[in-house]
Order: sequence, then structure tokens, then C-alpha cells
Amino acid sequence: MKKRIAILGSTGSIGQQTLSVVRQHPDRFEVVLLSANSRVDILSGQAREFASAHLVICDPEKYPSLQAALPGRAVHAGIDALCDLVQGEDVDIVVAAMVGFSGLRPTLSAIRSGKTIALANKETLVAAGAIVMGEAARRGVQILPVDSEHSAIFQCLAAAGENVPVRLHLTASGGPFRTWERSRIAEARKEDALRHPNWSMGAKITIDSATMMNKGFEVIEARWLFDMPVEKIHVVVHPESVIHSMIEFSDGAVLAQLGSPDMREPIQLALSWPERLTLDNRKLDFGALGNLSFAEPDLEKFPCLSLAFEAIRQGGNLPCALNAANEAAVAAYLRDRIGFYDIPAIVREVLSRTDFADNPSLEAIFATHDAAFAAARELIWS
Ligand code: NAD
Ligand code: MG
Repeated sequence: MKKRIAILGSTGSIGQQTLSVVRQHPDRFEVVLLSANSRVDILSGQAREFASAHLVICDPEKYPSLQAALPGRAVHAGIDALCDLVQGEDVDIVVAAMVGFSGLRPTLSAIRSGKTIALANKETLVAAGAIVMGEAARRGVQILPVDSEHSAIFQCLAAAGENVPVRLHLTASGGPFRTWERSRIAEARKEDALRHPNWSMGAKITIDSATMMNKGFEVIEARWLFDMPVEKIHVVVHPESVIHSMIEFSDGAVLAQLGSPDMREPIQLALSWPERLTLDNRKLDFGALGNLSFAEPDLEKFPCLSLAFEAIRQGGNLPCALNAANEAAVAAYLRDRIGFYDIPAIVREVLSRTDFADNPSLEAIFATHDAAFAAARELIWS
């Protein structure tokens, strides 16, 4: 039986790499839903290739042009349509590859109808980790990580069997500014920040990698995915991105998962789990690797990492506010409206203005997101 896959965000970096995995294994996978926010050109090309897939364009303004590009084909518009279609009986697994808070509703909708989730959209867990994991547990839904660090930890945990780790070590490349002085980073433009040394990704996560907010988000993601107290999650800078992450046991032994920096590897594993399939990628050449290096992160240069740790330590709705403020600030940075260190400054200020809610409902999460996003916008435009 082929696994029937719905892709939320099929036009993005993860979405397109998911399709490349599917193309390598047409006997194993079938695409039943493709969705995008606004890229009609890419979505319509995908729609022609995957001729029987449902199509959703989330930005309703783009609906007429998608219809015009695909005469005779049924197309849907808007997030509500997406939330309905992911629940369809023809869907086995949902690849959550939308960017930002926008992924929360459709991912929750898929969980509520019992679909397995291949999760790339970490912001969903940052904003609403307790709710999402609670819902998944109630429905017996498996959330398979696509983020390379979390896929690594997931694989190490599978190898660990009954043994529970005492610490997780999340590796971080350190991003494009790892070796820059703070004063030089302060002047960095988006063109510098978008030049990631090891990974080719969407713009928002690439900026998050440059500020290291991405690693902070991944700490929060790991806290929820693996039910691990944040005190037991350690970030280590590893510029070669060969070790994707590690788990440590009480006797000091450490298990690591290694691979080349290619997202198709964790994407494919999430789709094929618990099986492994062949993948046409570059394999590690240990003879050519030379040295692997490690360092503690520099929190002076990358204050976003501290802000994320602080938000998850306090918990409640603060990680949601962290995410919303960051989303607004990164969008402004990408439009050259603010400087690099305005991103942490805005996030810090919005966190301090957020009304703390200890155990927020989903409604409270949406309210926190909207309030924090608006507060950040106000700071950006003031
Ligand atoms: P991207 O910007 O390349 O693609 C985002 C996708 O989401 C696009 O298909 C876009 O149409 C869709 N989208 C954006 N806003 C939307 C909205 N409001 N409503 C509906 N759809 C919307 O991003 P990406 O790099 O593919 O990242 C996607 C997610 O995966 C992010 O959460 C990111 O943190 C995570 N992730 C990405 C990578 C990577 O290598 N790219 C690695 C790990 C995790
Ligand atoms: Mg990652």
C-alpha cells in the first residue's frame, strides 16, 4: 500500500524536498494534497505533475490566478479548506511544512482526525507545544520530527530502547555570523544573513539561524517532542553540521546521529518510518571530513538564544509571544525596516509586555499571538 501524503507548504524548501523524496519512491508514496500560500507558478506546476492531488491556495486573492492556470481542475482557497481537506480519508500522513504560526491550525486539524504528522513547522510547537502534544497523545497520533536535530534525537532514542537519556545535545551550525565580531553583526544586512554556510532553506528560518533564534525554537521543540525538561537540553555549536544531535546517558555514554546536511534524509525517514529506504544523496566521506569541532554558543552575540531559553523556562504563553514577536521582527528585517539586533530588542520588549498566562487555552494562544504580533509591529513602526 502506498502512503498517501498531504503536504502543507508544498512550494517551500521543505515542501519541494518532500516532493523530491516522493519522486524517488513512486511505488511507496502518493501525493494527495498540495498547498501553498501564494506561489501560483510553483503550485500549478506541481499540480500538473501530481494530477490527482487536492489543491489549496491559502491566500484567497490568488485563487483566480490558480484557477486560470489549471482550467478544469478543482482548486480550493483559504485555511479553512486546508483544515477540512487534511482530515480526508485519503490522507495517511501530513507533512507540516508551512512556515510560522500559520501552521498551527491545519496541523491541529490533522492531529484531531488521527493523521500521522511529519513535523517541520517547529513554530507550531513553540507557540502551542502543550496543546499540540496533549491532543496528539489523546488521539494516539505519532509526531515524527523532520527538523534534522530532532530526527537525530528520535533515531538515537529508538536505538536507546528502554534507557532514558539524562541530557540532549542539540547541535547548531552557528550560522553565517559565528565568527563575526558583535559590532560587525550589528551592521549585517539581510543579504549577509541569508547566506547560510551549510543549509539552503526558506528566508525566515535562515534569518532565525543567523540570530540563533532557530536553535532556541529547537530547544522548545525538543522540550515538547521528547518531554524533556529544558534544563536537560544543551546547545553545542558544531560548525560542520555532520553530527545532527546527540543523547547522553547517566553513565556518560553519548549516542549521536551523523549524516550530510541534506534535509531529504530526515524528510524521507519521517515518511518511511520505521523503515529506511535508499536515498540518492551525498554520503559522508569520513576520510575527507578532517576535524569535527565543538564550542559553547556565544550568548552575547546571539541574545535570541537566551530569550528563547528564558521564555520556555517561564513557560505558559511566553513561548507563543516569543514566536509572534520574532515573526514580526524577522519580516521587518527582511524588508530592511530594522537592524539585526533590533530583532532581539523587539522580542525582549514584547515578552516584557505580555500578560502571563500559565496554562493557556487554544483561544488564549491565538490572543497572545495576535497581541504580541501587534505589539512588535507597533515597536517596528514607532
Ligand atoms: P519556506 O518559506 O521555503 O516555505 C514555506 C511554505 O509555507 C511555502 O509553501 C508557503 O507557501 C507556505 N506558507 C507560508 N505562509 C503561509 C500562510 N500564511 N498560509 C499558508 N501557507 C503558508 O520555508 P521552509 O524553509 O520550507 O520551512 C518550512 C518550515 O520548516 C518552517 O517552520 C521551518 O522552520 C521548518 N524547517 C525548515 C528547514 C529547511 O531546511 N528549510 C529545516 C528544518 C525545519
Ligand atoms: Mg534544525
